[in-house]
Amino acid sequence: MKKLLILLLALVTVQLNGQDMAHYKRVVKELSSTKYQGRGYARNGANKAGKYLQKEFIKAGVDEVMCQPFKLDINTFPGKMKLSVDGKKQTPGVDFTMREYSPGVKGTFPLYYIDTLHYDADKIFQDLEKPEYKDAFVVSDFMFSYKHREDYARLQKKDGAPNAGILFTWEEPLKFYKAYGEKVVDKPIMWVPYRFPKDAKSISADIENKFLKDYECFNVIAKVEGTRHDSCYVFTAHYDHLGNMGKKVFYAGANDNASGTATIVTLAAYYAQHRPVYDMYFIAFSGEDAYLRGSLWYVDHPVVPLEQIKYLFNIDMIGDNNPVQYCEVSDEGMRGYALFEQINNEKHHFQALNRGTLAGNSDHYPFATHHVPCIFLENEEGDAFKYYHTIHDNWQNAVFDSYEPVFRLVRDFIEQYR
Ligand SMILES: [Zn+2]
Repeated sequence: MKKLLILLLALVTVQLNGQDMAHYKRVVKELSSTKYQGRGYARNGANKAGKYLQKEFIKAGVDEVMCQPFKLDINTFPGKMKLSVDGKKQTPGVDFTMREYSPGVKGTFPLYYIDTLHYDADKIFQDLEKPEYKDAFVVSDFMFSYKHREDYARLQKKDGAPNAGILFTWEEPLKFYKAYGEKVVDKPIMWVPYRFPKDAKSISADIENKFLKDYECFNVIAKVEGTRHDSCYVFTAHYDHLGNMGKKVFYAGANDNASGTATIVTLAAYYAQHRPVYDMYFIAFSGEDAYLRGSLWYVDHPVVPLEQIKYLFNIDMIGDNNPVQYCEVSDEGMRGYALFEQINNEKHHFQALNRGTLAGNSDHYPFATHHVPCIFLENEEGDAFKYYHTIHDNWQNAVFDSYEPVFRLVRDFIEQYR
């Protein structure tokens, strides 16, 4: 009997708190699955995920789901991805990744190591003219390249130096970015780990890129009607991620940002059940990892005037377990931030909130520059952060601790904000 009572009480608590961990996990798992291939472009993963989200919002009971198309130019790696060093096969995502703006490459190339201890630019450019280094790939410490930017710019240009490409050494696990992928540069550029052999003779590569011009993707916008329509709350999270590194490897992005997307889906389900005073919009953006393309499009084509937004919550990477919650807040959002702090001090959803300087690193930023009261919620670095932008940010490594406190913080805020 006692057990039953506790069970009943537990059910009541879940109902009162509103968040739904099972629903949240189901959406994170789905978005991180093979079906969506890392929610990139060439294999249509992002658009497939967008279609899934439309259905998921409808299932959540929202009143309306809209689709907002926009176009982008993006370099991708959906095909061949073979690299060997002195005949030894390398694994994409682990032993090497491409730079987002790299062209493909095919052939066998000698290696030329840049001596960073006795750096001599003239000697390097002379050496590269020698027949034994014809079409060489230069191997260099990436951080070091910052000290000699002009020389390295030359090495990257077709008419700057005769080398065929560059291997930059970088820390592990290797990261992949998409932010500067709107173009393709002259020469292939790859990331390799610091453990890359110090004395290898050559590499063989067969790597394909595919540049997509005017590729169409879309934001998914769901609406829950309140009793008042003169103002609204907006919840945003990007659902795109980094896509593929060849046919077999993809970036699942469980933390970045299946976590935030799943959070706004469960918030939509909650408010469809608990009708709000003001209208609510739940926007799942595409193109964020390709430099905020979905949200930049949205602020120029809003479905309701930006001035009507009472408050906007951008949730990106909360799939972690740091007890401190990182926030960025627009100037217009500072009055609301005082309430966030007050709520958190009373209810201890997080040990603390830590507010940092506004930066253009997620979808709140275009809204902040348009004077919308907004907050960016990202968990401080916990166990999941080491996987950021690597192939290991996947369902197997997913962390769930910050979901419930974020949900409660936002819900309490909406209850009290005037
Ligand atoms: Zn993100």
